[in-house]
This record gives sequence, structure tokens and C-alpha cells, in this order.
Amino acid sequence: MSLLEVKNLEVSFHTPDGNVGAVQDVSFSLEQGKTLAIVGESGSGKSQTAFSIMGLLAKNGTSKGSVKFDGTEILNVSEKELNTYRATQIGMIFQDPMTSLNPFVRVSDQMAEVLVRHKGMSKSDAIKDCIKMLDAVKIPDAKRRIRMYPHEFSGGMRQRVMIAMALLCHPRLIIADEPTTALDVTVQAQIMDLMGQLQSDFGMGIILITHDLGVVAGSCEDTLVLYGGRVMETGPTQQLFSEPTHPYTRGLLRAVPRLGTKHAQLATIPGNPPNMLQPPVGCAFSPRCDFATDRCKTFKPILTKFAQDRSRACHLQQEELV
Ligand code: SF4
Repeated sequence: MSLLEVKNLEVSFHTPDGNVGAVQDVSFSLEQGKTLAIVGESGSGKSQTAFSIMGLLAKNGTSKGSVKFDGTEILNVSEKELNTYRATQIGMIFQDPMTSLNPFVRVSDQMAEVLVRHKGMSKSDAIKDCIKMLDAVKIPDAKRRIRMYPHEFSGGMRQRVMIAMALLCHPRLIIADEPTTALDVTVQAQIMDLMGQLQSDFGMGIILITHDLGVVAGSCEDTLVLYGGRVMETGPTQQLFSEPTHPYTRGLLRAVPRLGTKHAQLATIPGNPPNMLQPPVGCAFSPRCDFATDRCKTFKPILTKFAQDRSRACHLQQEELV
């Protein structure tokens, strides 16, 4: 049984301008101890997929389909039921630690609250565990620094605090939503190394949500590429990176700067992601795709398996994409 099994997930939002289908027919699974990357541009549906799993959609959002954690359905269950999973079984690392941490409350109080609330620990015992976890995420002088306020930490150190908070109850699954976006590349690499090390120490499954394919390459076994709320391509990361079969995946990979290659200008994918209030009728990528045909503009391609563990949603065969 998979640690997490998502089937036919749909997320939509009611807005004054109409219904927005942010996530459509998304399915994937994750095994214990493995890492899955969900990649795509802003607005591709990555974060809304994560929020729906955690039951954290905005009030105007609804979700359909199935999300099973360790065989138990957790999509659209009551807040009370979800709270038995949050933090203790599933932890989340949010994108921006400065907006996720309360600036007026000491880190010690914010961290200890997790253990007091979810594990029923006394505050003094909780703080001892929090210091141990800050040590584990390599915050120097954790015993003293835990008494500080978030603004007294650097961006990288705040992100480590967020990771430590997500790990406090030793969850079996961590969902990390752009955990390194606000950081410079050196700190990014340190944070990814740290997550990899903590994964081998604690054996958790990780879903890494990112627009940065450079981060994915060395740290995720599998990758799922989202565009316009739909899965475009999925497969083992190494294969997907060395032989991308979808025009969108190819475009994303071309836009990654590579060491040792001289680029006059970095490649981009022309155009913008679709307006989800009025998405394209056919393939969501068709307005930006060099290979789009009349069929592409009229009919949505279906995600189809074409090799062991690999699927793609494109009307054209790979040999036609040259
Ligand atoms: Fe491009 Fe057509 Fe494939 Fe969509 S279905 S990615 S428009 S070739």
C-alpha cells in the first residue's frame, strides 16, 4: 500500500468572475521514504494540490476525487479528523517562513505549541524536544536562539526553523511547498542536503513542490509535471530529465541554466500560462506549443502510459516532435 495515493483530484474555486478549475484529474502515489517532485510554472496547480491534501484550501475552494493516506481517505473529512493527521502524520513546510511564522511570538513558543497541542506534552518538555530538533536542522547555539523572535534569524535559518517545526512530531509525510524559493543558491543547496539527510534519518516520504528543476535533479526519485492544472508528463526523474517527451517538459528543461554551457541568452517558453477562468478548449499548452495542430486546439490529450512508470498527455508521438 502506498503512503499517499491521490486519484482524480479536482480543485475548483468559485470567484465573482466564474469558476476556476485549478487542478483537474490529477493522480499520483508516493511510497514511504521516497521523494516526488511536483513541478510547473506559477498557476499550474502545484500548491493547490498540496493545500487540498492538507485540507487548507481557501474558503471558496472545493475539492473532489480521492486522497488516501496509508489507505485511509482524508479528502474532505472533518476538520477534527484532519487534525489527527496534520503535524503528527503529515507535516507541511510553507513557501515563505516570514509570513508563516508569527513575528510577535518567540520561536520557542511557536514551536512548543505544536507538541503541546498535538502530543499533549508539558511546555518545558516540549521546549527540550524543540531544541533537539533545531540542533538536527543545524541551527547553531539552538538553546539560546530558540528564545529569539523570527526577525532575528536570517532567511536560511528561518527556513530551517520551519523544517524543524514540520518535523517535530516525526510525520511520515512532508509536503514542502517551494521550500527554497526565497533563498540564495548556496543556502538552497544546504537546505536540500539537509532535507535529504533528515529523510534518511526519519524515513519520511516527501512531496517537493517547486518551479525550479535544478532543485529537483539531485533530490527526487520521481517527477510530475503540471500545467494548467493537469498532468503533462510523469516518470522517474532521471529518465524524465534525460528523455523528456512532452513539449512543455522540454521547454522547462531548456530554461534551466547549465554549468559549462555558454548561453548567449537563456531559453524561455514564449507566452503566459493559461487564464484558468477561460482555459484553452483543447490542450492547455496549445497556445504556447510549437507543434500545436488543429486537433490540439480542439481536443484535450489524455494522460497515457507509454513506458514502464512513464506517462504523457500529448496528441503527437515523440518522433513527430522534431
Ligand atoms: Fe503541443 Fe499538441 Fe502535445 Fe499539446 S497535445 S503539447 S499542443 S503537440
